[in-house]
Amino acid sequence: MSKTPFVTKEKLEEIIKDYPTPFHIYDEKGIRENAQAVKEAFSWNKGFREYFAVKATPNPFLIKILQEYGCGTDCSSMTELMLSEAMGFKGEEIMFSSNDTPPEEFAYANKIGATINLDDFTHIECLEETLGFIPETISCRYNPGGVFSISNSIMDNPGDAKYGFTKEQLFEGFKILKAKGAKRFGIHSFLASNTVTNDYYPTLAKQLFELVVELKNETGCDIKFINLSGGVGIPYRPDQEGNDIRVIGEGVRKVYEEVLVPEGLGDIAIYTEMGRFMMGPYGGLVTTAIHEKHTYKEYIGVDACAVNLMRPAMYGAYHHITVMGKENAPLEMTYDVTGSLCENNDKFAIDRELPKIDMGDILFIHDAGAHGFAMGYNYNGKLKSAEILLKEDGSYELIRRAETPKDYFATFDCFDIFNKIPFDKA
Ligand SMILES: *Cc1c(COP(=O)(O)O)cnc(C)c1O
Repeated sequence: MSKTPFVTKEKLEEIIKDYPTPFHIYDEKGIRENAQAVKEAFSWNKGFREYFAVKATPNPFLIKILQEYGCGTDCSSMTELMLSEAMGFKGEEIMFSSNDTPPEEFAYANKIGATINLDDFTHIECLEETLGFIPETISCRYNPGGVFSISNSIMDNPGDAKYGFTKEQLFEGFKILKAKGAKRFGIHSFLASNTVTNDYYPTLAKQLFELVVELKNETGCDIKFINLSGGVGIPYRPDQEGNDIRVIGEGVRKVYEEVLVPEGLGDIAIYTEMGRFMMGPYGGLVTTAIHEKHTYKEYIGVDACAVNLMRPAMYGAYHHITVMGKENAPLEMTYDVTGSLCENNDKFAIDRELPKIDMGDILFIHDAGAHGFAMGYNYNGKLKSAEILLKEDGSYELIRRAETPKDYFATFDCFDIFNKIPFDKA
């Protein structure tokens, strides 16, 4: 099986004349169709909102597309809150799901009316000290501990995760928050990442719905929303079958009607904070083969490196690679596809069967639309690449320029050395 890029070789050649590789390219059509499908899948729930996890793809031009489909933003830091505010997201359209949170970020989140989702019991006191009060709308992140499994297959290990309140802390926390003036409550939980099964949200939802019934009965708190957070995955490998968001939405609806509705809780809003599912498949990293090396293995060196896409280096993640124009060529070679960092893990693929690659070939690295550009860094003095939007009508637009040496050295601009850097000579 194979994966097909959302852009043709001819179009890429045209774009490369304007913007040299490497760059990330995003597919407006794909983003829109998927956002519409998400909206429809949960349309049975009156208060439903997807809060796009900004950290996955923090580009305002892309987030603006999601905004048209009613999405809000889920922020994890000061700058993500600032971006949301600048883009015109208002109050309850902004979720602040952060952890180990600096107090000044609580203050700013509150100032712009974002819903604060507390990661820890001790943050109740920190929040109250910072603001001088507890906001009327408040959410807490729950961690059930143990392992999270679906029909005997273990998905993840919440007991090892640094996030969230224990169950006891959650009950105690709700009581304290209520006593301190909170009126509208939410719970949040994120138990497994990149789940490629339609059962993840429904299984998580059932646990949370049952918990909410208990919480309501024991604390009397008015629970307004349940946040299923992120974790809905995408098929990075060509032999994987993707999630069907309509099946997922129906699965959540079924448990909602089984557990919440009979308890008179049929008004509770469902929230999601998907990142990967909203953007991952609709972005690709485009790079050019610039060197081949024949030593103990066959290597192809490209002009992108792990600073453009860190997932393979960081956790051995698979990203499919298409050699443009050689889609139907036999997979006659076995290559390591490498970047230029002085780190041996800077490889986009290891022992990958690919067509014979010639210098100058364009490689499309799939599924780089989420947690791709965003994880970028500047090790080895490498610069971050440009981001380009391929529009529905086939035209394209630069939506973030590539970094320049001036950007890289910008934090020295208050020192004399900055003026000695030969910007015009490189
Ligand atoms: C990372 C993150 C998300 C998004 O996760 P995906 O796996 O990209 O869907 C959502 N919520 C929180 C709190 C996160 O940390």
